[in-house]
Formats: sequence, structure tokens, C-alpha cells
Amino acid sequence: MSKITTNTDLIERKCDDVYYTEGMKIAYKLLMVCLMPKYQQAVGLAHNQIGGTKSVFIAKLETITGTNKWQTFINPTITDKSKNTYISDEGCMSFPNKPNKVKRHNWIELRHQVKARNDVKGSSFITERFEGFDAIIIQHECDHLNGIHIHNKEKEEVNDK
Ligand SMILES: [Zn+2]
Repeated sequence: MSKITTNTDLIERKCDDVYYTEGMKIAYKLLMVCLMPKYQQAVGLAHNQIGGTKSVFIAKLETITGTNKWQTFINPTITDKSKNTYISDEGCMSFPNKPNKVKRHNWIELRHQVKARNDVKGSSFITERFEGFDAIIIQHECDHLNGIHIHNKEKEEVNDK
């Protein structure tokens, strides 16, 4: 069973692209961690949070029926984002009991790899738009894949300028 690491050297490693089928196996490992009773508050987990190096995260997102469901994101990239931002108060499983305030976009568009329709083996990329709390989770997890978390994000923004 995989474990969540608090080792910042591992958490700050950037993740690499992964083959779709390997990505699905990693997503299953991540899900097994999040389904442990002690993590019942979890809403997202990225591969480097369990010491991995692949570009995969899972996120518990709203469905049209109003319930929340775990979804898998393989090789995700944010391709567009709102100009408007706001400050979000976030916790992180890699930093227990150490929440922080970070800047988030109101909505984002995410390109990621999914199983191709009508094809057992193939995969293809789709782009989806997320807003509200779902968009926060996606931005938080995409940051993780780039080695960014709620306690080093300000550094990232300074470096951007
Ligand atoms: Zn986190």
C-alpha cells in the first residue's frame, strides 16, 4: 500500500508524462490511499505526494446529480484560465494541519488523456472546463504535478515575473 509522504524533496519533484495504461494503474493506487478511513476528508491526490514521478492525479469532483465522485486525470495541462482570481484557503494532505491562502482562477480549462471511445486500447485527449470548488481542486493538483504546493506557491509567482 502506498503512503502519503511529507518529504518535500519528493513533493517538489516535477512529474513526467506517462503512458495512459500506466497512468490508470497509478490512479488506482492513489484511489486506494484516498479511500483509507483516515483520509476521508481527501478531495485530491497527485502521484508525487506518494513519492511517484508521473503526471497523474485523482480528484473528487461534483457530478450532475450533486454527489461527488473520484475522477482520474492523466497527463493534464491547464490550457486556459479566467483573468479573475481570488484568494482560496486550502489544506493539503502533504502538510497536515498547515493550511495556507493561495491565489486561484475562477475557472480553468484542462486538457487531459482519456480512454478513446469505441476503442478498447486507444486513448485521446479532451479539454474540459471546471469552475467553483472543482476548479480549485484541479489547480491545486496541477500545481502538485509541477512541484508547487500551497507553501511554495508565492515563490513560483515571484519567479513568473
Ligand atoms: Zn495538496
